[in-house]
Formats: sequence, structure tokens, C-alpha cells
Amino acid sequence: MYILDAHCDAPTQMYRGRDFGKDNPGVQVDFPKMLRGGVAGSFFALYIPARLSNTEATEYAFTLLDCLKRQVAANSDKVAFATDRASMEENAAKGLVSIFIGLENGSALLGRKGVLEELYSEGVRYVTLCHSSDNDICDSCTGQGRWGGLSPLGRNLVRRMNAIGMMIDVAHTSNDTVRDVLKLSEKPIAYTHGCCSSLCSHRRNLPDDLIHGIASSGGVVCMSVFPCFLTDAFSDFDDDNPDGRPMPDAGLVLDHFVHAVDVAGVEGVGFGTDYDGINHTAKGFESIDKLPILMEGLKSRGYTDPDLAKMASYNLLRVISAQK
Ligand SMILES: [Zn+2]
Repeated sequence: MYILDAHCDAPTQMYRGRDFGKDNPGVQVDFPKMLRGGVAGSFFALYIPARLSNTEATEYAFTLLDCLKRQVAANSDKVAFATDRASMEENAAKGLVSIFIGLENGSALLGRKGVLEELYSEGVRYVTLCHSSDNDICDSCTGQGRWGGLSPLGRNLVRRMNAIGMMIDVAHTSNDTVRDVLKLSEKPIAYTHGCCSSLCSHRRNLPDDLIHGIASSGGVVCMSVFPCFLTDAFSDFDDDNPDGRPMPDAGLVLDHFVHAVDVAGVEGVGFGTDYDGINHTAKGFESIDKLPILMEGLKSRGYTDPDLAKMASYNLLRVISAQK
């Protein structure tokens, strides 16, 4: 069964100097861990901090892309780039893990002309419209509500992304932004990393009507393993300064999957851990080689193998191929 993670922030760690070719103790993602876990692939997101100006954001996106390309080239015995189901399955047949590319924060598209097309030709297959603040494209779920959803420029960008086949990711956007994108986009969209509001009120999580809306558009919502998204009991948890309390149980992650499937249907749910963008995870999911345990957990909740195969990768891959 192919397991594909919709979101991790590995390129940031590459930029900071982690060698992904080595089995690094105590880290969430590297290539040996992906191989050991039998993970088919992961979207490595070029994460652009909200504080950067559009020009700086564009420059930094290409810096991260260079770091990523260098590490993939240096480990061609372990990994290869992929952009769709066919290339992932070709890589898997050769024993290689697939590295897909996403861009987290559309600000990086705005530094100069033609960046969207350039990144698409480099293999980037989704753009998360914003990060932790409102940007020139849309409102963030943790912003001030500058536009009331998509900005005029954001509306134009959605049309351009539809036209070239770049998948729109609404993780981090405000609920009004998600509604605007659902109304405007002619292609299915994704929510690559987060959880369900009805089980945990964190602002990053999605309410049921939007989970349903994304799934009805043919899209996918991908569940994370981040403690703060799992339960209100962790709403005061500081990921950078942990207070020593035990991490939430794995069962809470499964609860979010089960709820998402109840609302979205089994065709509308995927995996989006947020590894390397977070310091802590639910118990048992400390690194990417543990994802098969998540599969086992879902099996214990009664899902069949064909359902699991969809959630593990085929749903997300279907949304990617629907962009063409
Ligand atoms: Zn994120």
C-alpha cells in the first residue's frame, strides 16, 4: 500500500543543514526513515515565513528549492522526484521514495512575474495560499481578517492556478477564504495539514461544513499528528517550550480521521502530518517511519484495505491529477 504524506517542512531542515541521506537520531524526517517505514512519498513543502516581503519570499523559495534539489540529487539511490501517481509508482518499483514539492505561502508567487509557472515547471504541485498572517492573496485563519476572504489579486491567482493545473491548498487560510476558493475554483482543492474543529477548536482546524464542502468539490482534507490540533486540552501547549506533560494518545489522531471520514466520506480524507514543521507529535507517531502504525490504527477502526489505500495516497493523487 502506498503511503503519501501531503505535508512536511523538510526543506527548512535541509536549509538548516540536516543531511537527509543519513539516519539522524531524534528527527522526524530523513530518507532512511522514509525507506524504513515503507513510505511511498511525501510532499516536501517550501515553507515561507509570513514575515518575509514578497520579493524576499520569492528569493527564499528558490533557495529552499536549491537545497532540496541538491539533497535529492545526492541521494539518487534512495529518492527521486515525483509529480503524480504514475511517477510515484515508477519510483516505488525501483525501490525509491518519491519526493513531491509543495509551496507553503503564496507570497512567494508575488515577488516577480512568472513565478507560478516557473515553480510548476520545477515540479511544484500545490501552493498553500498563505501562512500565519493575512497576505496580499487572502486572509489567514490566524490573521486579522484584512480581506474578508480572498483579495482581488487572490481571486485572479486562483484562476491562474486552475489554468496551469497547480493545486490550491487552503491549510492556514481563514474559513471565509476557504468559502471563496470553493466558490471560485473550477478544480478540486486540498487542505494538506490540520484536523477537525468539531473535535478541537484550534483556529487551524476545519469546521464540518468546510470539510464537507472540500470533499464535495472532489477534494481532500489531510489529517495531522500535531498535539495542539488534536484536543483542546493542548490548546495552551507551547510546541517550542514543552512543559513536560505526556503527549496525547495516538487514539486522538484516529478520532480525527474517523470524524473526517464521517463528514467527507472515505474519498475525501488523506494524511498530512506536518512533520518538521512541529516539534511534538501524538504518542507513537514521532517520525515518518511510524506512519504504517497509523495505517494499523485505522484498520483497527474498521476500514477495509481499499479504503485505507485511498486515504493513504490515492485520494490526494486523484486531486492532483484532476488539476489537468
Ligand atoms: Zn503549515
